Amino acid sequence: MIKEILPNLYRIRVPLPQSPLRAVNSYVIKAEGQSLIIDTGQNREECMRVMSSGLKELDVDLKKADFFITHLHVDHLGLVSSLATDTSTIYFNQPDAAVVNSVGFWERIANFTRMNGFPEDELQRAVTGHPAYKYGPTGPLDFHILKEGDTISIGDYSFKCIETPGHTRGHICLYEPNKRLFVSGDHILNDITPNISSESDGRNPLDEYLKSLDKVYDLEVDLVLPGHRGVFKNFKERIRELKSHHQTRLNEVLSILEKGNKNAFQVASQMSWDIDYESWHLFSPMQKWFASGEAFAHLKYLEEKGKVRRGMEGQKIVFSLK
Ligand SMILES: [Zn+2]
Repeated sequence: MIKEILPNLYRIRVPLPQSPLRAVNSYVIKAEGQSLIIDTGQNREECMRVMSSGLKELDVDLKKADFFITHLHVDHLGLVSSLATDTSTIYFNQPDAAVVNSVGFWERIANFTRMNGFPEDELQRAVTGHPAYKYGPTGPLDFHILKEGDTISIGDYSFKCIETPGHTRGHICLYEPNKRLFVSGDHILNDITPNISSESDGRNPLDEYLKSLDKVYDLEVDLVLPGHRGVFKNFKERIRELKSHHQTRLNEVLSILEKGNKNAFQVASQMSWDIDYESWHLFSPMQKWFASGEAFAHLKYLEEKGKVRRGMEGQKIVFSLK
């Protein structure tokens, strides 16, 4: 479960039961004073057990540990509420903190999902089955907010914050220029593609995401420490692949609309998904939820580019080619 990646920098693989992501990577940087833990796992027993024994094996005392959380998703943030002590600082970003500590989140997101054509009979199951619903942090958290250019110095490492909105509005990556290390969170993953979707209509997450890929492209990076799966070296090549992946997806969405007007849920049901199920009908409500969010992000991007137009059919948003 524990791997030493560089001197005093370790990775703990924290399992995510029933998730296609399999595990989340928690990076631990040991130092004389406060150590730093980057991302934590979901707030559940299976994650807690692995984190506790891993930190014990590394001889990291939670009373002398700070946390940096790349973004709000519960597989990264959830467990911090159980790990942090009264001497811990939790570094986070403002846009995601506003969502985490807001009220009425589930009602807002369910309404938005409903407007995108999600069937009513599956909606409730999608919400109650959502990992964020089950394994989120307990209660509001007190964050130390970081922004673009801020640094966290820890032992021999000095990390610079780079705001990379897209996967979430407030996502932050860490860059260590001397060691040419890039902690990518869920901005850049190697053998899976980060989910790009939105919890509201107020964003254009795919546009944010593609700009955030361009933003980091020129950095000198020898090793990427991602939020899921293995560490990797092919930073620039992977960015080019992710950009071309979304271009292919955009073209796919356009060709689906050639056959007629559709809402995001209907578009999602016709897109190709890298999931082990034979047909859309066998997707779980949760998978349909993520897929519809992803379809909406691509439709919104095409709308802003002037290629797609939106209209209303009753209470539902429908898209057509322009
Ligand atoms: Zn995520």
